[in-house]
Amino acid sequence: MIKISVTLLTFLFSMAVKAQDDSTMIKKITDDVLTNGKAYEYLRVLCKDVGPRLSGSPQAAKAVNVTKKMMEDLKVDKVWLQECMVPHWVRGKKEEAKIIFKDGKTYKLDVTALGNSIGTGDKGVKANVIEVKNFDELNKLGEKVIKGNIVFYNFPMNPTYINTFRAYGESGRYRFNGPSQAAKYGAVGCIVRSLASNVNDYPHTGVMGYNDSFPKIPAVAISTLDANYLSTALKNKTEKQVFFRTNCQMLDSVKSYNVIGEIRGTEFPDEIITVGGHLDSWDLAEGAHDDGSGCVQSIEVLRVFQALGIKPKRTIRAVMFMNEENGGKGGDKYYEEAKAKGEKHIFAMESDEGGFTPRGFGVSGNKEAVAKIMSWANLFRPYGVNDIHEGGGGADIGDLKNLGTVLSNIYPDSQRYFDIHHAATDTFEAVSERELKLAAAMMASMIYLVDKYGL
Ligand SMILES: [Zn+2]
Repeated sequence: MIKISVTLLTFLFSMAVKAQDDSTMIKKITDDVLTNGKAYEYLRVLCKDVGPRLSGSPQAAKAVNVTKKMMEDLKVDKVWLQECMVPHWVRGKKEEAKIIFKDGKTYKLDVTALGNSIGTGDKGVKANVIEVKNFDELNKLGEKVIKGNIVFYNFPMNPTYINTFRAYGESGRYRFNGPSQAAKYGAVGCIVRSLASNVNDYPHTGVMGYNDSFPKIPAVAISTLDANYLSTALKNKTEKQVFFRTNCQMLDSVKSYNVIGEIRGTEFPDEIITVGGHLDSWDLAEGAHDDGSGCVQSIEVLRVFQALGIKPKRTIRAVMFMNEENGGKGGDKYYEEAKAKGEKHIFAMESDEGGFTPRGFGVSGNKEAVAKIMSWANLFRPYGVNDIHEGGGGADIGDLKNLGTVLSNIYPDSQRYFDIHHAATDTFEAVSERELKLAAAMMASMIYLVDKYGL
């Protein structure tokens, strides 16, 4: 009896010491990132010295070189480029759009072409507008009403969802599939209410995709303010037609790269832990929150390991994925190569939800691994990170689940993300240095624990 108690006590004591060690280490990591971290300066370089980084653009190519150099300067074990072919879509001249009223007056609308859309040509598109709230309404109207007209999807993000990504997912269907669904009934153009949680003049772009069974029609996003204005004009029947002109086109695919930096593991170098964000961004702004933040936070993870002399047991990789926004070719390539080489990817984390205050992590994978990660919850509470939940991952790392990889994402506060997401307002100034760094520190801490204990 006494023997059992002593064993139990020793065990409990060793657990307590471990937890103490871990919380001390997490504090050390966080203190260093908040004091000496370079994530914010890296972000300034990406936003101000490089700028918008749409796949195939000269800035995307520059971003590859710049982030490669950042990681080389950290003197990590290896930095390399992973080649991939990416779509090369260009916006061309700025879009024009207006309502033409029955009395001959016009009203300028703020629109932006959707990514991967065809352009209208010089003549533009001029037609009547049919407003629908959703696909059900569209299907009910059918060809008889839709043919020869512009379809306007006016589906707002649902403000009652506290996790704004849920609302984005719900509304996103109209941006991605809406144009082809409208073309199915003979529409000649498509206008989509911007996926934005606020009402203002800034249209939000984003990717759309054509269904090859239907004609390709040009598609634009309209600012939320102008979506409301257009809707009112339609209700009052004061409008005659809407005109828009876009000059975008899809060019031939071009060669680009994922950028990868690695600290090699000392005990289990074949077990790979990936942390990443995507290097490409939309072209309307600097891609600061989306996803410059995720990139520089991932580089920061390498920096703090190097700065504190943490020699990981497992291999830690920071990956700047190319082409998340309008093709996902970088993520595809990373997965294909991992699979072809038979690499053992035990854990992958993506940061692609903005550089805001960290609230938690999403985690997906085998039960034991998820339970293990959740058992660390108390270590994160002192930092306001209280929400480790099941269900995690990201667009660039998603396929790794086929290799049995445990997937995760840093989950920041989401209330302001869709104010600026894919709009001209996603600039460096919209990112708080402190929030960006705190999230980076939490990411590094999670990676530290995964490396220490394995999954
Ligand atoms: Zn993104």
